[in-house]
Amino acid sequence: MENIVLEAKKNLIEAVKATNPKADLEKIEEAVSFAYKAHSKQLRASGEPYILHPIAVAKILTELKLDSTSIITALLHDTVEDTEITLNDIKKSFGKEVAQLVDGVTKLDKIEYQPENIKQAENFRKLLLAISIDIRVLLVKLADRIHNMRTINHIQNEKKKHRLAHETMEIYAPLAERIGVHTFKNELQDLSLEILHPEARNSILTRLEFLRDSSGNIISSIEKEIKTELKKHNIKADVSGREKTTSSIWYKMQQKDVTFEQITDIVAFRIIVDEMLECYRALGVIHSKYHTVSDGFKDYISTPKINGYQSIHTLIMGPGNRCIEIQIRTKKMHEIAEFGVAAHWAYKQGVTKGTQNAQIDWIRRLISILETTQSPEEFLENTKLEMYYDQVFCFSPKGEIIPLPKFATPIDFAFAIHSDLGLSCIGAKVNGKLVPLRTHLNNGDQVEILTSKVPVPSTSWESFVVTGKAKAEIRKFIRARQVNEYITLGRALLSKSFSKAGKNYDDKLLEPLLTPLKKQSVTEILSSIGEGSLSRNEVIKVFDKISEVKKPRFSLSKLSPKKLFSSKDTYSMPINGMMPGVALHFAGCCNPIPGDEILGVVNTGKGITIHTSICNTSKTFSNTPERLITVSWDGQSGELFAAKLKIIISNEVGSLADMTHAIAKTSANISSIKTISKSLDFSEILIDVEVKNTNHLNDVLVAVRMVSCVHTVERVRG
Ligand code: MN
Repeated sequence: MENIVLEAKKNLIEAVKATNPKADLEKIEEAVSFAYKAHSKQLRASGEPYILHPIAVAKILTELKLDSTSIITALLHDTVEDTEITLNDIKKSFGKEVAQLVDGVTKLDKIEYQPENIKQAENFRKLLLAISIDIRVLLVKLADRIHNMRTINHIQNEKKKHRLAHETMEIYAPLAERIGVHTFKNELQDLSLEILHPEARNSILTRLEFLRDSSGNIISSIEKEIKTELKKHNIKADVSGREKTTSSIWYKMQQKDVTFEQITDIVAFRIIVDEMLECYRALGVIHSKYHTVSDGFKDYISTPKINGYQSIHTLIMGPGNRCIEIQIRTKKMHEIAEFGVAAHWAYKQGVTKGTQNAQIDWIRRLISILETTQSPEEFLENTKLEMYYDQVFCFSPKGEIIPLPKFATPIDFAFAIHSDLGLSCIGAKVNGKLVPLRTHLNNGDQVEILTSKVPVPSTSWESFVVTGKAKAEIRKFIRARQVNEYITLGRALLSKSFSKAGKNYDDKLLEPLLTPLKKQSVTEILSSIGEGSLSRNEVIKVFDKISEVKKPRFSLSKLSPKKLFSSKDTYSMPINGMMPGVALHFAGCCNPIPGDEILGVVNTGKGITIHTSICNTSKTFSNTPERLITVSWDGQSGELFAAKLKIIISNEVGSLADMTHAIAKTSANISSIKTISKSLDFSEILIDVEVKNTNHLNDVLVAVRMVSCVHTVERVRG
């Protein structure tokens, strides 16, 4: 190794020793050598050996006192993406956990943020959080970004520099804030501000300098003053004053739309003591020495923020009538305030070994903390991590991020983009591959919707879509279609009765019936008939009454109901073109398939049900012939229909397999197999097969009969 690399490695090992005495130094050194070999041919933009980057990232993470696994992950984080090394190689040398974390970081790297889409920044942050199931993945990614931002000036391409800085400001700094790692947030903000708004940053720096010059070095003088005062009262404390960072001043000016002069707490002091009670004693000392500013006092020790943040904040009037914020807390409170989630992690490490289970527990507990966070004041903001585990974020072909609930399907995705896209969806490609429409989408999936020119939603979609929008749109479409089909059906039923009586039907003939039937329109009459809520009998009676006045010789009801509604006539209404499940249903008792002689039964409020004409259920309607309608299969739709077969088969080894094989050869689909009874020698089996028509079914029956172990086979109907 070059000297510069050896030096960096030595610094890293020292930092690890200082922050984590239990660290596995041997394994960490092994990871340095492993990464060194892997990156040996690469250089950074600065011309330095590439290995200095992962070492620097690991070193940044030591500030958070993370475990050895995180440090090793940091050292290896670019190997899978940039070198020949595979995840398997890492698993072999460093174990499953490290391999999983490296995989997580690699996945995050692959997702690219589109800077022109600022509205999507929040979705993008959620996507990153959702993918980083282990928070350490995100911490490595943030440290990686810090080092890349620290060395950004080696990049010559101005556009690329801006893109990186923009992404850092929009995505990574807020993410660091969200998980409470304030040190990371501050540095990321400052580094990106330097690239994006150098003038603003310079002018803030100048103003700060001017303030310092005009009021003297107030920081060190107040620091001294506070220290002396606390000492007088026997309180042992670390006192440190600092100016707000340029970026936090800039953000405050942006967000709250205030001027530099309006920012009251440009200078802040922190008093860190050993014990909780000392915090209150120190507060007493401060309040007796300085005037307080009203509304400036907050006690987060007695009422901690839900994420665990504890501290006392008070605003006092300092020298030169300048507002100064003072925060008082213990050392432990300070660690949690600075390192957030990572401090919880380090603390947890001290208590139990970093076993898989302990980590899962820890993440669960973290989630439960985050779930209950409500106030936007809190450092986890108004976001709930739980939300990200309940959501998936998918990409449209244009790179737009579509947030969806968990278990969302391509149909939900299509409706989320546009109702028309959802209604005309006939297929979907996920990451370039055709998938069934009921597939559950995963984070980061790229989804492409295939469409037809006419809307074709299926009634079955309703059972598996999860978004309210998709459900509502499908229902709306089906309801509209239902009304249309009811109208068609009603018209067909009525014209049939009219033609029986030797009269040509026309919609206009119904107009005089509106008032007596209390309907708003002719189509309403027709749809009521189709739906079955208005009987043809009643319509015809009313019709006769009205026509008798005009043309006494014409009467429909002269014919007996048997003749008027007879199902044995030549007129039949074609049922293809109607959507099963809308106004038309196939009876489950006899499972009609194309080729069967069928008839329709008008059900009150449900449209018609198609039975085979030999079905026992349909026979029970012979007393109410007005509810029967002759229907016919018309043409081939290519759809498959279920037919039930009862098969008695001898109990031999492989008999079931022989039979299903025979069915498969006829290209029929078996949708269910049930054993009804089993004796010593024979089994009785019910099989649902999906076939095109009766011819196809006959092929199936013949094929099954050819199987030697099959005793009998018959179709079950009704
Ligand atoms: Mn990197």
